[in-house]
Amino acid sequence: MVNYRTSFYRVEQIKKDISLRTRKLLERTVLIMEKIKLNVEHCKGCYLCIANCKPGALSVSSEVNAKGYLVPQVDSEKCVQCGCCYTMCPDLVFEIL
Ligand code: SF4
Ligand code: SF4
Repeated sequence: MVNYRTSFYRVEQIKKDISLRTRKLLERTVLIMEKIKLNVEHCKGCYLCIANCKPGALSVSSEVNAKGYLVPQVDSEKCVQCGCCYTMCPDLVFEIL
């Protein structure tokens, strides 16, 4: 015979566990995404940033800014916040958070 009372508590516990795990995953994702910020509208497509990013965290995206340049994108998992892109970019596109 099914003990509905126990089953109900188990379901509630599983729901809590899942929401906790989801919350932790979201928090981690936000942290990863917030390593660096790009103000891509300032970009002029020189790609000095990409050439000087030693961990290879930067690449050319398919996004075009208002000036008509393909702007860089950052792979936040690879970014080590060294600040090299910030130093190299002549147009102050990068903010290290
Ligand atoms: S160095 Fe600055 S201006 Fe040049 S591609 Fe990178 S973000 Fe754009
Ligand atoms: S902070 Fe360093 S690792 Fe991150 S994107 Fe810029 S140059 Fe690359």
